[in-house]
Amino acid sequence: MSIRSDFHLHTSFSGDSEADMEEMIKKAIELGLKDIAFTEHMDLNFPVTEETPEGFFECNVDSYLYHLLLLRNKYVNDINIRFGLELGLQPDIVKANVKVAKDHDFDFIIGSIHVVDNMDIYDPKYFEGRSDEEAYRRYFDAVYENLRAYSNFDVVGHLDYVVRKGKTLDADYSYAKYKDIIDKILTRIIDLEKGIEVNTAAIKYGLKELNPCTDILKRYRELGGEIVTVGSDAHVVEDVGRGFDKAAEVLKEAGFEYYTTYDARIPVQVKL
Ligand SMILES: [Zn+2]
Ligand SMILES: [Zn+2]
Repeated sequence: MSIRSDFHLHTSFSGDSEADMEEMIKKAIELGLKDIAFTEHMDLNFPVTEETPEGFFECNVDSYLYHLLLLRNKYVNDINIRFGLELGLQPDIVKANVKVAKDHDFDFIIGSIHVVDNMDIYDPKYFEGRSDEEAYRRYFDAVYENLRAYSNFDVVGHLDYVVRKGKTLDADYSYAKYKDIIDKILTRIIDLEKGIEVNTAAIKYGLKELNPCTDILKRYRELGGEIVTVGSDAHVVEDVGRGFDKAAEVLKEAGFEYYTTYDARIPVQVKL
């Protein structure tokens, strides 16, 4: 495996995972990973449903950090463990997110858009009464709106995430179809000196490509983008490092020679 850093991991400190942090660390060591970042969910104002009750995606950061520090110390000779967060972006919680990002000395923050117009993308309601194309376009517009309003993050998570849940998945989806808005998003990310991630969880959702698709990675590189982290988005131990050979292949195809890790919010380039 040429990529030895998994920068998107969830444990039981995330509402939708029951994974034990120490088991994940042991798995990462077993796979020969050098660095991992835990990126627990912090999605304020997440729509409340039966499956996602009030505060479902709000991590207790102090408790998470306490646990992480104990394990970081225990495995200090085996692996670098970074303190990260997956921060859910929405235009009406900018102030609250600014506070979350400043309240702790995170090593790494993923800015992710899971909620658009107060609807969870994973809720079929988001796709009701419109075509996938309309739903995807609204998602990309919302990503751009978020990046205009908020910038305290390091990379944008799973840029074309919405495709995971469309009725047609990525059957009719391509970068070319949304080029106008995707170019605006990528340019904004580069102007902010931020990056994107390659998220290999796409494999689990039956997509042809990773998130984002290879043509978006190519375009990001063409526009001068250099920062790409790689994450499995594992919520269970077995998924740590999944799909990393594919990620390396896709990154090389897109013209990247390096991938990125973070320590204390500072990007470090690692040769592929
Ligand atoms: Zn996410
Ligand atoms: Zn995630």
